[in-house]
Amino acid sequence: LTAGLEELAALPALTLDGVHVPLYVNTGLLSDISPSLRSGADGVGLYRTEIPFLIRDGFPGEEEQVQIYRQVLEGFAPRPVTLRTLDVGGDKALPYFPIHEDNPFLGWRGIRLMLDHPEIFLTQLRAVLRASCGLNNLRLMLPMISDVGEVDEALELIRRAHTELAEEGIAVDLPQVGVMIEVPSVIYQIPQLARRVDFFSVGTNDLTQYLLAVDRNNAKVAELYNSLHPAVLQALAQIVDEAHGSGREVSVCGEMAGDPAAALILLGLGVDSLSMSVGSIARVKAVIRAFSLGRARELAANALGMEKAVAVRSLLNNALEEAG
Ligand code: PEP
Ligand code: MG
Repeated sequence: LTAGLEELAALPALTLDGVHVPLYVNTGLLSDISPSLRSGADGVGLYRTEIPFLIRDGFPGEEEQVQIYRQVLEGFAPRPVTLRTLDVGGDKALPYFPIHEDNPFLGWRGIRLMLDHPEIFLTQLRAVLRASCGLNNLRLMLPMISDVGEVDEALELIRRAHTELAEEGIAVDLPQVGVMIEVPSVIYQIPQLARRVDFFSVGTNDLTQYLLAVDRNNAKVAELYNSLHPAVLQALAQIVDEAHGSGREVSVCGEMAGDPAAALILLGLGVDSLSMSVGSIARVKAVIRAFSLGRARELAANALGMEKAVAVRSLLNNALEEAG
């Protein structure tokens, strides 16, 4: 852990035994592009498209969306950019599209809302595909999937947007499509999902919230919210094993990936890449460079045998201290 944070930007995220761990950024702001490139990030693992929607007073039209997505895709090219389709609802309400529900986190969120409003979804899909023209670095990601039927419907709309554009003379490649693993039901449907999509990314923020039934934003239960909870770790181990068994890579794009100690466990569980806010890249890279994959695997195996999150946290803190 000796190199300065500045120096680290130029160094690869290699473990002591030479395994490269791709590190991506989570963003939704164009102002993150330069700092992300300076940090040495390998691309964008999660672009939250709802952020440009949240800072406007109405739905941005297709042209306006093309401009936004183009700047991100071009800014990071040739590095991959994973654009997540609109994930509003829950805690992210659009002022110009009010939703009133008793349980917003169990309600009309993410893909559910998009499939009920295909006109909004298609506008976004057309804009994303148009923005990717000639760049070849777009990956599309679907949030809040709880059922394979939603994936089939979303893929159908992606194909429709693609066909419409082709008929208008705009030829673009179909991007790779992935699913966020953040609703517990899909932990049990990984092989079925793998037959439909190209990659998985675990949203540990929501996965933790839903597995533990703890509102991620409620201070009264904040002490119960813990991504190192044994149930979350078991779920992650199962997700990685099933995804790899189905020939698909898994990344983690929840906050957990940006916590250096937790990142170590994720690495040990076999997660293929990590995506985090740009401010966390250097710290996580420093930890990756201080451990071997073998040691990370050993720590993950130990952690999986533990009964309490506090024990996992102290196991990791001790390991980090030993590594200096
Ligand atoms: C998550 O749920 O972990 C995630 C990355 O998505 P968001 O925080 O935007 O819900
Ligand atoms: Mg989420």
